[in-house]
Amino acid sequence: MQDISSLTIAEIRSGLAARKFSALELARAAIRFAEAENPKTNAYLTLCPEVAEAAARAVDDKLARGEDPGLLAGVPVAVKDVLSTKGVRTTCASRLLERYVPPYDATAVERLKAAGAVMIGKANCDEFAMGSSNENSAFGAVRNPVALDRVPGGSSGGSAAVVAQGTAVASLGSDTGGSIRQPASFCGVVGVTPTYGRVSRYGLVAFASSLDHVGPFARNVEDAALTLEAIAGRDELDATSAFAPVDSYRAEMKKPVSGMKIGIPKEYFEGLSPETGDKIAAALDVLRGLGCEVREVSLPHTPYAISCYYIICTAEASSNLARYDGVRYTSRAEAASLGEMYRKTRGEYFGMECKRRIMLGTYVLSHGYYDAYYLKAQKVRNLIAGDFSQAFSEVDALVAPVSPFPAFRLGEKMADPMQMYLSDIYTITGDLAGIPCMSVPCGKTREGLPVGMQILTGHFEESKMFRLAYAFEQAGGVA
Ligand code: GLN
Repeated sequence: MQDISSLTIAEIRSGLAARKFSALELARAAIRFAEAENPKTNAYLTLCPEVAEAAARAVDDKLARGEDPGLLAGVPVAVKDVLSTKGVRTTCASRLLERYVPPYDATAVERLKAAGAVMIGKANCDEFAMGSSNENSAFGAVRNPVALDRVPGGSSGGSAAVVAQGTAVASLGSDTGGSIRQPASFCGVVGVTPTYGRVSRYGLVAFASSLDHVGPFARNVEDAALTLEAIAGRDELDATSAFAPVDSYRAEMKKPVSGMKIGIPKEYFEGLSPETGDKIAAALDVLRGLGCEVREVSLPHTPYAISCYYIICTAEASSNLARYDGVRYTSRAEAASLGEMYRKTRGEYFGMECKRRIMLGTYVLSHGYYDAYYLKAQKVRNLIAGDFSQAFSEVDALVAPVSPFPAFRLGEKMADPMQMYLSDIYTITGDLAGIPCMSVPCGKTREGLPVGMQILTGHFEESKMFRLAYAFEQAGGVA
């Protein structure tokens, strides 16, 4: 059976062209491998062998007819279970949607399929993407394939884990406050949060609409760039999706980085674990060696980011989650009256974190508090975005840690939500500003836990971000 655990997209393309393997063989190998790994990690909530085999056969047929099978032909992929998939259960890791089967594909999923990718399953995550450890999934936590007693990060923990374990070559996740970059850093894979509006949110189950981003995970920079290229671009079904043309990231990323100016935001190095700090320092040496000019910059409003984020995201979540009332979608509690049915359904089927956020969000939006909380948070958000604009007038890109610490133990932060919220301290700002940012593997701690380096650039400057990431990776990164 073909080993798919280290194949890259380019290797799949050449292997298919040379008839070394067929797309069907790859799909079957991926499914079998995923079935064998899942009892250890719980990274998949659903596997869809029939869907995968049908997609793979379509690729093989196109190849047999001599047609172009697409940019991601035959590539086994997984999709976070907050993205709607036609005919395949989409739970958002919530008991509320346990049996929900969407009648349509999210645009990002549709584009993956159109590019020839083969979806093998849906990846576990925190319930409605709320969390930093994947422990808020109603269907059990995910274990980090690198160290099974550790969390994979969250909320896209399953999407990062499947790529790290090698059962999928690439995957899709969503990032509202760090949910792509933080799990990518914890699992040692590449994770990309594109500019807000670069990838359509149509069919992404909404958590906080002004912050939600869809983006890829992959084992290397090139594969992440290719996957983003396949899903990016204007979509009429999402009014916030951008018209800006999509670059050929594959071509752009190979341009030299010598002379690039890199800013190091000094506020992102406070409260950092020493080992993470050492890895980032070593990464900066690599970048200097490539001819980049490194200097310190300041993003002075960073200390307000977490408070600002938890007001805006809970406010938007309280509104978005109001639709799960027991009338629509699947799960419904039995009750004597309509009001009682609403209460019981929400009480029984939402997990603790969702309830906490709905209550907080309802409070900050309530009459009399709106100006004091929500409006003020929007103003702070603007100041945070202004910090980035100022920084990007001086430098081409920012480099920082992704998370203050590497993957923590399962259960370690569950009792203290504030501690959990702090794991996103360096990632939330990028979402608030809507700029592209990514995590690139940056060595391992003495215990063997991956560390991630974050790269951030100005709006729609994904090419520049990939260029830096690719050069760093090609230079060997950090051990
Ligand atoms: N951990 C953050 C939260 O719980 C971010 C989640 C996300 O990006 N979806 O809100």
